[in-house]
Amino acid sequence: MKKIIEVSGLVKKYGAFEAVKGLSFDVYEGEIFGLLGPNGAGKSTTLEIIETLRDKTSGTVLVNGIDLDRDPNAIKKVIGVQLQTSGYYPNLNLTQLIELFGGLYNRKVNAGELLESVNLRDKAKAKFKELSGGQKQRFSIATTLINEPKIIFLDEPTTGLDPQARRNLWDLVRSIRDRGTTVIITTHYMDEAEFLCDRVAIMESGRIVALASPDQLIDDLVASGFERPKEVKKANLEDVFIAMTGHSLRES
Ligand code: ADP
Ligand code: MG
Repeated sequence: MKKIIEVSGLVKKYGAFEAVKGLSFDVYEGEIFGLLGPNGAGKSTTLEIIETLRDKTSGTVLVNGIDLDRDPNAIKKVIGVQLQTSGYYPNLNLTQLIELFGGLYNRKVNAGELLESVNLRDKAKAKFKELSGGQKQRFSIATTLINEPKIIFLDEPTTGLDPQARRNLWDLVRSIRDRGTTVIITTHYMDEAEFLCDRVAIMESGRIVALASPDQLIDDLVASGFERPKEVKKANLEDVFIAMTGHSLRES
């Protein structure tokens, strides 16, 4: 498997505080790689350094073989980053916004096709502020795809979404991966990571404490003698919720 991101000894200090403490990990081409961890673990800092949006203190980062220290602009060309929602000019509709961003990337984009790919074609003439939470996230993901990147970065894309919108977004992320794009995603929802990610790195206080596929991590824990305190039911409350209110996409 080809390594598309190689991070080695990455350190980030904010003043005297060391938020990232010597991280090393690789991401393989074509996988969904999850950075998991509680708030403050250093997930966004790590992501934004790789995205060239934040300076690192030390360590090396290679993206698609390009050294961050030597050519950050070349890295920008192969990655897709979620733009801040403040960049979504309030009076432009979704089609106009995509055309605007296409212009910034110097790319000709088919706005209709792109909106279709995130299930938003019927909102082509709507303004960003008129969208539901789930639609906003899908539009935001569409904007990461404008420059046809090799890798996209999603920082907590499902926070605040209801179960249907969340599962709909999971399907979207998988379909993007299945079309060959590498995805790096942060989350603190373990069910999401288990369902979505090919491999995960669990971060705690600026360090990686585990890195493997979700299956492998669970098997390792069980092999170490871990047992759940009580018999697990075959469904959980979220399954009940989905069964009662439907799988169909309900905007929130
Ligand atoms: P996560 O995304 O995992 O929640 P962050 O990368 O946002 O974590 O933050 C990691 C740590 O660095 C936290 O303790 C946070 O308070 C601190 N931090 C983040 N950004 C800054 C900043 N610009 N200045 C100072 N401290 C920061
Ligand atoms: Mg964060």
